[in-house]
Formats: sequence, C-alpha cells, structure tokens
Amino acid sequence: NLTQRLAKVVKTIRGEARLTEANTAEMLREVRLALLEADVALPVVRNFIGKVREKAMGKEVMDSLSPGQALVGVVQQELASIMGADLGEKASQLNFSTQPPAIILMAGLQGVGKTTTVGKLARYLRQDKKKKVLTVSTDVYRPAAIKQLEMVSGQSGADFFRTESSEQPIAIAQAALDYAKRHFYDVLIVDTAGRLGIDEQMMQEISGLHQALSPIETLFVVDAMLGQDAINVAKSFNDALPLTGIVLTKLDGDARGGAALSVRHITGKPVKFVGVSEKLDGLEAFDPVRMANRILGMGDILALVEEARKNVDLKAAKELEKKLKVGGRFDLNDFKAQLEQMNNMGGLSGMLDKMPAQFRLAAQGANMEQANKHVGRMAGIINSMTPQERAKPELIKASRKRRIAAGAGVQVQEVNRLLSQFEQVQSMMKKIKNGGMMKLMRGLKG
Ligand code: GDP
Ligand code: MG
Repeated sequence: NLTQRLAKVVKTIRGEARLTEANTAEMLREVRLALLEADVALPVVRNFIGKVREKAMGKEVMDSLSPGQALVGVVQQELASIMGADLGEKASQLNFSTQPPAIILMAGLQGVGKTTTVGKLARYLRQDKKKKVLTVSTDVYRPAAIKQLEMVSGQSGADFFRTESSEQPIAIAQAALDYAKRHFYDVLIVDTAGRLGIDEQMMQEISGLHQALSPIETLFVVDAMLGQDAINVAKSFNDALPLTGIVLTKLDGDARGGAALSVRHITGKPVKFVGVSEKLDGLEAFDPVRMANRILGMGDILALVEEARKNVDLKAAKELEKKLKVGGRFDLNDFKAQLEQMNNMGGLSGMLDKMPAQFRLAAQGANMEQANKHVGRMAGIINSMTPQERAKPELIKASRKRRIAAGAGVQVQEVNRLLSQFEQVQSMMKKIKNGGMMKLMRGLKG
C-alpha cells in the first residue's frame, strides 16, 4: 500500500536540506508503483515521473519539514496541475456560448454510463442552471437504451424527444435539433450508442453525428474501472472526434481513478465531471486536487504537509537552528517555542487525525487527549518560570521547583518530569545537526 510505502520513505530520507538524485530515487520508485497500481497507463507514468524529477532536483527543503514531505508536495502539485488545477475552475464548466440550443454530444463505449450521465447532466442543468433541456437517444440498436433515456429524462425534469428505432441516428438527431430550435430549448443532449470495443462503424457513426450537429460540447464518457485500457480507448475517440471534455464515471467504486490522469494526458482535454453513484444526483464537478490525492492514495498525509507548511514558524525554527549551530544552548525558552508550534499544528491528536489510518492505529495505545493536555500543562509550567530560570534551567533547585509548581497549579513531580523531558530533548538537539521541528516532535512522542 502506497501510504505505508511513502511513509517509510519519508522517514528514511528525513533530515537533508535538498532534494537530490539519491534521496528522491527511492521515493520516485514508490510513486511510480503507486501510479501503476492506480491504473495510470505506463507511458503516462514515465512522463509524469520525469516531470517530477525535473521539478524536484535541487529544490531546497528549508521551507518544508523534510525532503520526503517536500517531494510528496511536488508530486501532488504536479499531479493536480496535470489534471487541470492550473486551468482554473472554468475548465470544468460546460460551454454555452453559442446560439441556443447548446448541443452536448455524448461519446464512449457501451456500459460506461453515457445514458446515466445524460440524466445527471439534464438534472444539473434543469435544477442548478434553470435551463430548458431536451434529450434524444440515437442508440437505435437497443430499444431498451432508448426507454432508459426516456426514464432518466423524466426523472431529471428534462423533455425527451421520441425516436423510432427504425430511423437513422443522424436523421433522429437532426429532427431533435429542429424540434429544440422551434421550441426554444437552451440545451439539447444527444445520447449515442456504444460498442463493447472500438470499431470502425461506431467511430464513423459518431463522427457523422458530430459533423451534422456541430455540438459545442463533445463529452467523452469513460469508466474509472477501465484501468490500463482507458488510454487506448481515449486515443481512438480523441482521434475521431474533437472532444471538449471528459466525464469519469463510477468513481464511487474501488477504482483509484488513474484513468483520469491517462485520459487527460492523452486527450489534453479537461475532466469536467465525475460520476459518483448510479443515481441522478451522483454527478460532481471535477476537483483536480482531490483526484490527485485519490490516485496517490496518500490519505490526508498531504493535508498534514500543507498544514505544517502553513503553521510552522519558519523564522523561529531557523533562528533556533542558527543559534544551535553557533554553539548556543537549547534552553527552556526554545523548548516552549517548540511546544507552542506543536500546538499550532493542532497538537498531537490533531496531527494524528490527519495521518493515514496506519499511523492512527499505531498510535492507538497512546492516549492522545491526555498527551495534548500534557503538552498544555508543560507550557504552563514553563510560563511560571522566570526568564533567568528558562535560560539557565540548572538554576531550578528544590525551592524554585516548589514555587513554579504552585504558580502553575501542578505537583512538584510534574515540574521534575518536565525538566527531565527537557533534558532529553536538549541532548537530542545537540545530536541534531540541522535542527528541525519534525525531528523534535518525533522525539517527544517516542
Ligand atoms: P451507457 O451504455 O454508456 O449508456 O451506460 P449506462 O448509462 O446505461 O450505465 C451502465 C451502468 O453503469 C448502469 O447500471 C448505471 O447505473 C451504471 N452507472 C453509470 N454511472 C455510474 C456511476 O457514476 N456510478 C455507479 N456506481 N454506476 C454507474
Ligand atoms: Mg446508453
């Protein structure tokens, strides 16, 4: 499982200041495997890894917590940007800038969810966009498919243009278009037949439909479970038709959604929607960042990286590093600053919440709530010390301990415990050349 793999690698390459060939090679190998596991097509994986390597090399990791996390960040960003994060929200929206009716032509293999998606789109356009919608089926080979469209259209609130299966697809589509024009529909959605595999006749039929209708949107519907095959199917459709967008269906299943990346890579067209259930409300706007996370299967480890980036007080961390490097001492003020940074990250349990399940399981033995309270009390104890005591903890003998304990409202033993914990951290800090928050926090937890 990728989460475990990456976590392992993140751990092994912690503590270096720069991303290099050496420290990223292993990590990239894991990312590569993860993408293949998520059914991203091999050539797409190669291309992607190459891009990430290029972006990552020599990147300073000062502004993040470890090289491993920095690389995870690069991977996630690159993945999201390939999938359209850079294109902006508009990329996932339907284009209506045409003389009405705006025609939407559906393309894709049989069983991928075209007819269902017509119903979903019709519902979305009716309810959210207040459009007047007409649907029509050109699937003359399967009368049941025409009935199916009639049914979902009814459920969606759209009107359905009746077809006889004895007619030709192009003639049907043209009749529907005429009707839509005469009755001032905003949108005409044209459902088409699919084959189980790519074949000439099917491609000719749909490109004939495209020529006859000049749709403003030609949506390629692809099943997320299609896996490695997605790339070939996408290529055939993209060669035959000027696609304008992609709908990725059945994302509610187990599929990790690698097809999104493959199809996006091959067609260069934005994924506009994803299907997340059989029901008509199971359509969502495509979210590149969420998709990137899903493909990588990294749980919320990325959210943790993000949060850490935002919350860690870089300046303070760097000052501490500098101080330690010039032979300065790690004192209780530094200790307190570290505790506070940890609190900024939502405390120990807050951090664990964002970790993948494996981490949480591992931490189950520990009582996190108590640990959090403990961190708060430690800070309270340090607050009760004088600046002099914080700078020179060895001053703190019995009578001072009693005073501090009373000030903080704790027992003297707790002051002792804090001091011995501090000493542990202090000796650890001596060993750590590069300083760094995560190291310190891991030390505290362990
Ligand atoms: P078409 O042959 O391309 O028109 O495919 P259909 O629309 O008839 O869908 C084929 C099957 O996939 C049906 O059983 C649908 O209910 C199901 N389906 C379509 N989209 C989704 C989806 O997003 N999630 C799930 N779980 N099932 C879907
Ligand atoms: Mg159908």
